[in-house]
Order: sequence, then C-alpha cells, then structure tokens
Amino acid sequence: MRRNCTDCILDGTDACSRGAGRAVDDKICGDFFPTKVVEVDDDIVRKSIEYYGMDLQLNVAIEEMSELTKEICKHIRGKENRAEIVEEMADVFIMLANLQSMFYVSERELNRIITEKQERLKNRMEGEEV
Ligand SMILES: [Mg+2]
Repeated sequence: MRRNCTDCILDGTDACSRGAGRAVDDKICGDFFPTKVVEVDDDIVRKSIEYYGMDLQLNVAIEEMSELTKEICKHIRGKENRAEIVEEMADVFIMLANLQSMFYVSERELNRIITEKQERLKNRMEGEEV
C-alpha cells in the first residue's frame, strides 16, 4: 500500500524528492526508489588505488563496510543516526567503486547480476503472496 509522505517520520529533504524517508511503521515510503547510484569520480578511484595499493584498499573496503554495519546496528538499537548511516553509505559507495575497478567489473556485468538477483527476489515475493 502506498503511503502519503506526511506519514513519514523523517522530514529531511535529502531523503527523497518529496521529503520522505521512512514511514512510521518502518516500511519504506513507496515513493522513494533510488534507482541510480551516486556518482563516484573515476579518476580519484584510479589514483587512490595507485597511491595506496590494492591490499590497503581492500582493507579499507572491509573497514568501511563494517562501519556501516555498526551504524545500522546502532539504529536497530534505537539510536537516531540517519546522518551517520548516510556518511557510511557514502564511504561504502566509494569503496564499491574501488572494488569495481580493482576486480575489473563492468557496469554491464554488475547490472546483469543485479537484474537477475532482483528478478529472483521478485519471483520469490510473488510466490509468497496469498
Ligand atoms: Mg567510514
């Protein structure tokens, strides 16, 4: 069921074009679907891999993912930490771009796998509907 954005517990305009972020019952607002990932500067990605090396960048990727994990855990425990979650999401997006570059993953390959996985999820959810 689609919800009116006025039901949202967040009022930050960064959350979506209509100011929504999350509905009061923890269901994601039906009007907020981030279909495009943020832009990461390819040149800075390349330079950071050259400067720090692959081993260090792999460790940083692990660290950034764990920092996001930590903030999500805090949120589950009741902390109001949307800003920290967004900050860590940005770090993880940057490191995903680094991983994409280090493992020679094209957007085409990534998008193909994303489509397959989302199709599988969609079919699973439709199979569970009563
Ligand atoms: Mg971080």
